[in-house]
Amino acid sequence: MKLKFWGVRGSIPTTMSSENLMVKIQSIIERVKESDLKSQDSKQAFIMSLPEYLTSYVGGNTSCVQLALSDEEIFVFDAGTGLRELGKNLPKSVKKIHIFLSHFHWDHIQGFPFFDPIFNKNVEIHFYSPVEKMPELIAAQMRGPYFPVEFTTLGAKMIFHKISTESSFCVSQVYVRAREMTHPNTSYSYLFILPDGKRIIFATDIEIALSDFEYTDDRKVFFENADIMIADCQYLPVEYHAKEGWGHSSYCYMVDFANHWHVKHLYMFHHEPMYDDKKLYEIRDNAREYSKKVLKSPLKIDLAVEHQEIDV
Ligand SMILES: [Zn+2]
Ligand SMILES: [Zn+2]
Repeated sequence: MKLKFWGVRGSIPTTMSSENLMVKIQSIIERVKESDLKSQDSKQAFIMSLPEYLTSYVGGNTSCVQLALSDEEIFVFDAGTGLRELGKNLPKSVKKIHIFLSHFHWDHIQGFPFFDPIFNKNVEIHFYSPVEKMPELIAAQMRGPYFPVEFTTLGAKMIFHKISTESSFCVSQVYVRAREMTHPNTSYSYLFILPDGKRIIFATDIEIALSDFEYTDDRKVFFENADIMIADCQYLPVEYHAKEGWGHSSYCYMVDFANHWHVKHLYMFHHEPMYDDKKLYEIRDNAREYSKKVLKSPLKIDLAVEHQEIDV
């Protein structure tokens, strides 16, 4: 199965500024030597030698991740602005879309009105959330004068599933469990257990607390031994102390948390809109250093990068 990031930014969509682009171009020019330009191979080798922050763009769309189950069916974690591009790139063969919603803050639902499949009457869209008012909350953002097309006029068949956090449920041979987390207005994290036993956690917009480290059966079942955890790492430790109660985690605490529960691979997610690529890769390097050198942990750590595809 393939996991793909379509939106990784937190709070608000963020574009790369011209100034930022110029800084990247300048930094590349300063690095180039005459010998790098001698042949196609040397040019290619030069490009490959550049730091990742100069050759990639972490991305500006908000929360949206795709898990492709088959040619006909996909899971989507959150409906942030990344959902628009997901829709543009969706194969025509996909007829069933399951959207799992962490919560209803703008950055997690705003891509929905721009999602092409909502106009296709051959498509079924299933929504999952423990929130009772989910249909109303999804429809409200499309009401005039906020949006010109009313939810009730859409072509796709919409099915809402109000789920419980008390037990897991099965969707197309994947076991799913939702868990309430600390966040203003509440957010829900999801555990997905794939048919081959692989465990994926989607845990955005969560403020990790000391109590989240306590060993309870419930927590063990949910967090322990995840193969992949996509998790909120928005703040530096110093920022977290200034923004306690805002509902996001410092990347250091998230590294501690992932290690504590023996997660195998952490994808840092919900990136701070104020940070450019250089800063985000620096944070990733610090997280790796802390985990490897201080905690002596084998945990793999990567940034969630828009358009990046991962084999699961
Ligand atoms: Zn958010
Ligand atoms: Zn939020």
